[in-house]
Amino acid sequence: MTDTRAASPLLSVENLEVLYSGVILALKGMNLQVQEGQCTALLGPNGAGKSTTLKAISGMLKVEDGEVSAGTVRYGGQDQAGIDVQQRVAQGIVHVVEGRKVLRHMTVEQNLVVGGHVQPNLAAVRRGIEQIYETIPRLKDLRTRTAGYLSGGEQQLLLIARAMMSSPRLLLIDEPSLGLAPMMIEEIFALLSHLRSQGLSLLIVEQNAQAALGLADQGYV
Ligand code: ATP
Repeated sequence: MTDTRAASPLLSVENLEVLYSGVILALKGMNLQVQEGQCTALLGPNGAGKSTTLKAISGMLKVEDGEVSAGTVRYGGQDQAGIDVQQRVAQGIVHVVEGRKVLRHMTVEQNLVVGGHVQPNLAAVRRGIEQIYETIPRLKDLRTRTAGYLSGGEQQLLLIARAMMSSPRLLLIDEPSLGLAPMMIEEIFALLSHLRSQGLSLLIVEQNAQAALGLADQGYV
């Protein structure tokens, strides 16, 4: 068995501290790692700072007047301080936020096209969509449907697919199982497991510890 702890991690979070509005301390002393090609699960009760951790990694804190007030986020060995969300996406860090934020009035396929905006040209976008349809045939069947009318589980599949359209190397995913029926949770986790087997690295925040730990190589509480 290979000792992956010896390899330098793809993502390394050290002593992370986050403030909102300059005064609200939301997170203190957070440490975690994600190894290349592996899945790390972050578990914990409401308000523990899990979503905040993902936002600090993807650079989305700024949108909510949050800031990293201490500690470091290193990705591929590089300190991410001062690197904005778009640059992080270009480097391969893609965040599926909590709350199923599909583009409700657009079709499934239009959502995927939007997800592909970082691709160099339309041919690459088309290739990406074909790959998604091969991996998730259900989305091909639903491609002309309005995203806002999909079931919760279908919306979650679409969000993962839309994230895949920007060719991530590290996928951050927040509470993918929230409010879903057991069979749908199984389908979502089977998809995440398939994507990991293709080389994707994952950091997953979950309240459903059983589902998350079934997939994860490492877990933090
Ligand atoms: P949940 O599962 O409920 O989302 P969580 O572990 O993801 O919980 P966070 O959402 O990261 O926790 O919240 C951590 C702390 O930061 C909480 O006390 C929360 O009230 C606070 N917080 C989160 N977002 C903001 C914000 N935009 N402004 C001020 N405080 C915030």
